[in-house]
Amino acid sequence: NKELKLATKRAKKLAEEAEAANVAKSAFLATMSHEIRTPLNSIIGFSEILQDSDLDPEQEADLSAIRSSGKLLLELISDILDLSKIEAGKVSLDIAAVNIEETILEVTGLFDLACQRKGIELLVEFDENTLSRIYTDRTRLQQVLNNLVSNALKFTEAGEIRVKFWFEDKLEPEGPRYYISVSDSGIGIPPQKQAEVFQTFTQADSSTTRKYGGTGLGLAICKRIVEMLGGEINVVSRVGEGSCFTFYIHGVEPVGQGADAPTEVADELRLDELPSVLVVEDDTTNFLLVQKLLERIGIEVEWAQDGLQAIESFRVKPVEVILMDLQMPELDGVEATLRIREMCSDQAQPYIIALTANALQGSRDACKQAGMQDFLTKPVTGEAIRMALLRFQHQQDMDLDQA
Ligand code: ADP
Repeated sequence: NKELKLATKRAKKLAEEAEAANVAKSAFLATMSHEIRTPLNSIIGFSEILQDSDLDPEQEADLSAIRSSGKLLLELISDILDLSKIEAGKVSLDIAAVNIEETILEVTGLFDLACQRKGIELLVEFDENTLSRIYTDRTRLQQVLNNLVSNALKFTEAGEIRVKFWFEDKLEPEGPRYYISVSDSGIGIPPQKQAEVFQTFTQADSSTTRKYGGTGLGLAICKRIVEMLGGEINVVSRVGEGSCFTFYIHGVEPVGQGADAPTEVADELRLDELPSVLVVEDDTTNFLLVQKLLERIGIEVEWAQDGLQAIESFRVKPVEVILMDLQMPELDGVEATLRIREMCSDQAQPYIIALTANALQGSRDACKQAGMQDFLTKPVTGEAIRMALLRFQHQQDMDLDQA
C-alpha cells in the first residue's frame, strides 16, 4: 500500500513535469515561429515588390523560386505553430452554419486543374437526402479536406480520387455523424504504418520526403482538428491499390457569435480622400515594406518604433489610420491602442488596424477588445492593405450616414 502510494506520487510528479515541458515547448515554438516569420515576411514582401520591376526571364525565374520557397517555409512554420497551439489546447473554434457540400466542392475545385494535368479523375459523391447545414468550423473543416485531397493527389499516379459525403443518425446524444471519405487509387500505405501516419513528423516510408516532399505534419493536424470537431479519423489502405481516409464530425451548438471577419467591400479606393497613416512597427525592414506598399497607393506615412513613440507621435500629429504592430518593446500594440483610445475620448478616434505575425484567433479577439477595428496578418501584401483601406473608407461612409 505504501509502495503504491509512493508510485502514484512519483507518477503524478512525472506527469506534472511532462505537462510543464509541453507548455514550455509550446511557448518556445510560438516565439520561434514569430521570430522566423518576421524576416520571412520581408523576403516574401520584397519579392512581391521586385516582381513589378523590369526583369529578364532568368531573373524572373530566380525570383519566383525565392517566392515559392518563402511560401513553403511559411507553410511549415504555420503548421508547426498550429500543431503546438492545438496540442496546448489554445485553439478556439470559429463556429458558424456551414454547408458541407458547398465546402467540399470549394476544396475539390482547387484541385480540379492539378488532377486534370496528372490525368486523374476527381469525383465527388453526395447523399441526395442529406441535411448538410451544420454548425461547425468551416476553415478547419476545409483544412482537413484540403490536406486529405492534397495527399491523395500526391500519392496517386493514375486512376481516381473520390470524395464522398454521407451522414448517419444513430441517435447518439451528440447528434448525427457527418462522414467524409477521401479515397485514391495510389501507392497505398503498408499495414504496420497505417496507425503511425497520424503521428507528428512520420511518413510511411523514409524515402517519401525525397520523392514527394512534405513535412509529415499534415495528418497529425487533421487528426487533432477532427477530434476538436467531435469526431475521429481512420485509414484503410492496401499497398499498390490505394488508400481511403474516412472521418466524421458532429455538428455543435453555436456558442455566441463567431468573430465576425471584416466584410470585404467591393469598391474602388477613393484616391482623392486617402487617409493620413501612422505605421507603428519596431522592425525597420518590415516598416520599409509597409511604407513602400502604402506609397504605391499614394500615401506618405509617419513612423513610430514602439507603442510609446506611437502615442507621442499621435499627440503631436493626429492621423486617421494607425497600422499597429502587436509585439513591440516598451509598449505593445494592445496597450498603446488602449491608451490612444483613452486620449481621444472627446476627439476624433483613429481607425486602428492590427498588424501581426500571429494569425491566431485569440490574438484577434484581444485586438478587438482593445478597440482595434481591423486585423492584418503578416506577411502583409499590397492587396491586403488596399482592402483594409477600403474597409476604412466604408466605415467612414457608415459613420457619416449615422451622423
Ligand atoms: P506529408 O504528406 O507532409 O509527408 P502527412 O502527415 O500528410 O505528411 O502524411 C504522412 C505520411 O502518410 C505521408 O508521408 C505518406 O507516407 C502517408 N500518406 C498520407 N496520405 C497518403 C495517401 N493518400 N496515400 C499513400 N500514403 C499516404
